[in-house]
Amino acid sequence: MRSVRITEPGQAELLEEERPQPGTDEVLVQARVVALNNSDLALYEGKRPDGFYRYPVIPGHAWSGVVAEVGAHVQDIEPGQKVVAESIVYCGKCRNCRMGLTNLCEAEYAELGFTRSGGLAEYVLVPARLLHVMPAEANLEELALLGSTANVAEAFLRAQPRPGDVIVVMGSDATSLLAVQIARLYSPAEIVFMAFREERLRLAREMGATRTIRPGRQELGEVVTELTHGCGADVVFEGSGHPQAVAEALQMVRRAGTVVLEGTAGTGSFLNVEADLFAMHHLSVYGIFEASIAAWTYALQLYQSAQLSLPPLISHRFPLDDYQSALDLLLYQQPQALQAIVTL
Ligand SMILES: [Zn+2]
Repeated sequence: MRSVRITEPGQAELLEEERPQPGTDEVLVQARVVALNNSDLALYEGKRPDGFYRYPVIPGHAWSGVVAEVGAHVQDIEPGQKVVAESIVYCGKCRNCRMGLTNLCEAEYAELGFTRSGGLAEYVLVPARLLHVMPAEANLEELALLGSTANVAEAFLRAQPRPGDVIVVMGSDATSLLAVQIARLYSPAEIVFMAFREERLRLAREMGATRTIRPGRQELGEVVTELTHGCGADVVFEGSGHPQAVAEALQMVRRAGTVVLEGTAGTGSFLNVEADLFAMHHLSVYGIFEASIAAWTYALQLYQSAQLSLPPLISHRFPLDDYQSALDLLLYQQPQALQAIVTL
């Protein structure tokens, strides 16, 4: 089979290798669509924190495929079925797993696409318990976006917005647009979204944003102040991870408000905010690392009840042979790029 391996920072190669055989509790999945995002870029650039990656590795933690072969002990999964896979390989036995926080499994960190072979290969070995069988009519491109959707679902399970809230979504990538879509379901008074490109703002409005802002014309903080009569937003979703944006999110939320931080800035980035801010503003701040089994369940429910609009998020498609162009698109942050996918 053909596979893409990242061997060291900035180095990826297409290889021919043996197609793996499923163990008794494993499923061999023919990968069909891989969605690449900033976590894949951090892996490619060597900016993942120590212990959260290894080289060489086949990247691709958000992907969809079709079952090719099942292990001897696998039940209820059959060849030909469309599937998505949770990426974190959790133990199911530790305290966090038993609390439902499978994304924070206390056993050694293992994740498809970061420490174990991911979706950027014609076939992927997956422990059967990580798979979700999807309807036969499901679109494989949309399914590949459910990993990102699950991460955003995790954020909303934490934030629990209430009807009438003012929700600010910071960051203008596909993750942030998913946040707009899910935020809308809570009947907020306002969803505020900021982006440089008019086309991105239009998409955000179609997906539920009520106030869209172009930096330079309006300042986000001023709009939030105006909307909330100086009190601040009820919930701020920050998807970029940039320290400056995180600091801004913490300043923009009202006292006793909620901030969810879904982005990562890369190793060596530090936040500079006044230490008393958290206590004096009585803040709830949630960091979000990947998606628990509960968030996956929520994301699948949102998808199956047709609450999501996923196709408009896909901006670029590449065949496996052209994987380098997909990585370059992430690397050079081209402004028109929203969600790149690789099809196999
Ligand atoms: Zn565990």
